[in-house]
Amino acid sequence: MSQYHAPLKEMHFVLSELAGLEQVGKLPGFEEATPDTVAAVLAEAAKFATEVLDPLNAVGDREGAQRLDDGSVRTAPGFKEAYLQYCANGWNGLTKNPDFGGQGLPQLVATAVEEMWHASNMAFDLCPLLTQGAIEAVELVGTPEQKERFLPKMVEGTWTGTMNLTEPQAGSDLAAVRTRAVPQPDASYKLYGQKIFITYGEQDYTENIIHLVLARTPTAPEGVKGISLFIVPKLLVHPDGSLGARNDVHCVSLEHKLGIHASPTAVLAYGDHGGATGYLVGQENRGLEYMFIMMNQARFSVGLEGVGLAERAYQRAAAYAKERVQGRPIGETVAGRATIIHHPDVRRMLLSMKAQTEAMRALAYVTAAALDNARRHPDLEARKHHHAFVDLMIPIVKGWCTETAQEIAYTGVQVHGGMGFIEETGAAQHYRDARIITIYEGTTGIQANDLVGRKTARDAGAAALAVIAEMQKLDGELSRQSGAEFAAIRRELAAASIALRSAVEWIVRSAGSDPRAAYAASVPYLRLWGLAAGGWQMARAALAAAKRLAEGTGDTAFYRAKIATARFYADYFLPQTRALEHAVVTAGESVLALADEQF
Ligand SMILES: Cc1cc2nc3c(=O)[nH]c(=O)nc-3n(C[C@H](O)[C@H](O)[C@H](O)COP(=O)(O)OP(=O)(O)OC[C@H]3O[C@@H](n4cnc5c(N)ncnc54)[C@H](O)[C@@H]3O)c2cc1C
Repeated sequence: MSQYHAPLKEMHFVLSELAGLEQVGKLPGFEEATPDTVAAVLAEAAKFATEVLDPLNAVGDREGAQRLDDGSVRTAPGFKEAYLQYCANGWNGLTKNPDFGGQGLPQLVATAVEEMWHASNMAFDLCPLLTQGAIEAVELVGTPEQKERFLPKMVEGTWTGTMNLTEPQAGSDLAAVRTRAVPQPDASYKLYGQKIFITYGEQDYTENIIHLVLARTPTAPEGVKGISLFIVPKLLVHPDGSLGARNDVHCVSLEHKLGIHASPTAVLAYGDHGGATGYLVGQENRGLEYMFIMMNQARFSVGLEGVGLAERAYQRAAAYAKERVQGRPIGETVAGRATIIHHPDVRRMLLSMKAQTEAMRALAYVTAAALDNARRHPDLEARKHHHAFVDLMIPIVKGWCTETAQEIAYTGVQVHGGMGFIEETGAAQHYRDARIITIYEGTTGIQANDLVGRKTARDAGAAALAVIAEMQKLDGELSRQSGAEFAAIRRELAAASIALRSAVEWIVRSAGSDPRAAYAASVPYLRLWGLAAGGWQMARAALAAAKRLAEGTGDTAFYRAKIATARFYADYFLPQTRALEHAVVTAGESVLALADEQF
């Protein structure tokens, strides 16, 4: 059985050489993120991920979470103990505001840490991930009293948080939310309605759960401008912080799912016994607006789930390929039968998994550094610049990393042959677990709509073209490197950036004149962006590796592998951008050709 090994060397390389950890550590408030502290944090996280979370991953998949007759939920064996240890070690508050007990570390550092949680046990990490979303909502727009009452316990993990958006008729389209919130004389509200698919909506880790709920007040206008955000605790909380009566929110069932079995996905009934007490967060009717502010973070985290799952699937496949003996390798002089890693096609599969995972990681970490800069950079213009980059990249990190993780998990099963289809190897679990990440926090279609509409057309392609100009600027540096590897990287990156520019210009033109065509092209457009931006980061990685090799410092085999992997990515994946450009610019005519009745 393969065990998870946190790829610390690779993570440190990406943090330092590509994402600019040193610069992020100098931002105001991040002074404690010194290289030594970061190395210690990552080493401890690696230990927890490998020793505690990874061994529970298969148990969680097998046993799952169960709803008991009294409406409580029993999580899989070992998960509660792991959660308590996780909180005791302080992991829950890693990036949180020190005013509420957090450690205030940069998002960039947390990104590497969270990748390890996702890789070792994604179903476990969903609970802290959703709590994080709830904490952000309260911190963003809660009253000082709400912050004081709820945040310290949520930051330490004594109470968990959930995000209650979805209802049977309101999934991608949250304007259709119907849950009612009726004002009460004491300024609280009574909530009535049903929320579905609520991650960790009920659990046995903690006594209390703080639900963040979207609902409509009686006078709210129709549509997106009539949705408000409420805090609804499972147990009411007295002003002094002590716990009070059970609130009228109950788990009426848990979903039976394809994957992430250890994560309880609850149907929650609000107000069946007189009304669930809730407290308005921020201003009435601005709930969806608050959600959109927080969504950057949540969508980023789900993209990062893709990176973690891809890494885990790759490690498992590589370990199997080194053990499984089958056939005689073509063109090798090894006597007798050999392990399957000797077969060229198995090497192709492994390298495609490795190269895509590295490209995804690099893009995600670079985006995390931009998030830190967008929040903390002392210069306003720099903050704006980073903000524009983050806004553009969020749907790409979410959409592309999660879609690519499916391919990687699929290839992981393929490397295992028949054993990949058999549950014991674990490859099938990654394949099943990965399937949700292109769906929740906005499907790939919704990410792609965002990329086309808000992120490309709205500013007439300005942010997109600025990033492409950055990509093209690398050409000079690439041209100064010798050898076939850099020649291939340079050639393919140049062609990819031309294809991308052409697609951006077409999207900007079409969004105004023929929006159906622009949106018909949205998903190939998103993939084109992901592949090209990933190739850009791989080229930067190859240049950094060449520099270290020239200096004669560090692990030469690691740096050589970086260059070879970047070249493979350039030869194997970047040419797909040309085909995608064709798919984008012809989408209006080809995708929309059939009438409803022809399907
Ligand atoms: C395991 C799991 C956990 C979840 N956790 C939570 C949670 O904690 N809290 C919560 O509130 N929700 C949660 N969800 C809900 C999740 O966010 C929604 O399922 C998701 O947003 C999609 O909504 P839907 O299922 O209604 O699909 P629909 O919106 O019906 O979409 C169906 C298809 O139509 C496409 N589509 C819909 N609208 C458009 C459009 N405008 N343009 C292009 N294509 C479109 C979609 O891309 C998709 O392919 C969870 C779901 C699952 C399965």
